[in-house]
Amino acid sequence: MLNSFLSQIIDNINCGIVVLNPNFEIVFWNKWMEINSKMMAEQVLNKSIFEIFPHLKTEKFIKQCKSTLLFGNFTYLSQKLHQYIFPFKPIGTSNEQIENMQQTCAIFPIRDQDNKVTHICITVYDVTDLVIYQMRLIELSRTDMLTGINNRGYLEERLMEEWERHKRHKRPLSIIMFDIDDFKKINDTYGHLAGDLVLKTVAKVSQMKLREIDIIGRYGGEEFCCILPDTHFRDAYKVAERIRLAIQNETIVYKSHSMNVTISGGVADITDSMKDYDELFRCADNALYVAKKSGKNRIEILTKGGH
Ligand code: GH3
Ligand code: MG
Ligand code: MG
Repeated sequence: MLNSFLSQIIDNINCGIVVLNPNFEIVFWNKWMEINSKMMAEQVLNKSIFEIFPHLKTEKFIKQCKSTLLFGNFTYLSQKLHQYIFPFKPIGTSNEQIENMQQTCAIFPIRDQDNKVTHICITVYDVTDLVIYQMRLIELSRTDMLTGINNRGYLEERLMEEWERHKRHKRPLSIIMFDIDDFKKINDTYGHLAGDLVLKTVAKVSQMKLREIDIIGRYGGEEFCCILPDTHFRDAYKVAERIRLAIQNETIVYKSHSMNVTISGGVADITDSMKDYDELFRCADNALYVAKKSGKNRIEILTKGGH
């Protein structure tokens, strides 16, 4: 009775179960494994697991299994470290970043009546959905919902990272802060939705002028920031000018209204005398203030090095 119960449970449980003997031959392969590997138990039983999955023949995996056989260890193979043990296709999930089913696996001993370890059991859990949710949450937490570019939190996080990298490797780093000129007039004249469309367009046009490694984000209201790793202030200035011109030349159409906007920008680069990354933000913000004061639709540079 119990045996019949157990075999039904094992075949219907939403988890892969594989049992190996000390020669790494497969002695048990449950239905979940059959479905996901597309190999029936008859095809794999009594064969070495390394014959079926050659990529598993690594020093680490063999050591983990041997340690389970010798000492009865329990090993947890987390998805974060390994992603997967068995190369199966994900079921029913669509995400182009995930090619293989993400798995959390465990290796544990099976003992006989004398408490001697005779086999090892590997369990496989499909955690692909969780990984996709996690990726989506991370993406949402760093995205500005209106424009679809990065938000301020993510900008600060990345600037902190780039700041640390600069301290270690002394690579140049520049930032651009820019702000839409007379944006209030757009809202006042054409309405808030027209203003939103301008913000989205400015974000899209600016992003297209940047390299893959540059990071652009919405810093606040109608203020944007670009972090340019490995870039001296002179090159950052050229990038800022490119963005300024592209925005100036973009005609934004909302209902039957054609709108043109300009931006003012401030460029700053990292210098040894700066105490923290906030100072870099402040420097670019001061340059932006100068650009506004000098008539708008222009880019200014201001660095602690006094360029
Ligand atoms: P300046 O040239 O000096 O930058 O002037 P400005 O009019 O651009 O700047 P100001 O700070 O006076 O106004 C910014 C406006 O941006 C006010 C605010 O209502 C608007 N704003 C902020 N966030 C959003 C948003 O998400 N959507 C829209 N449509 N407007 C926004
Ligand atoms: Mg403005
Ligand atoms: Mg502003």
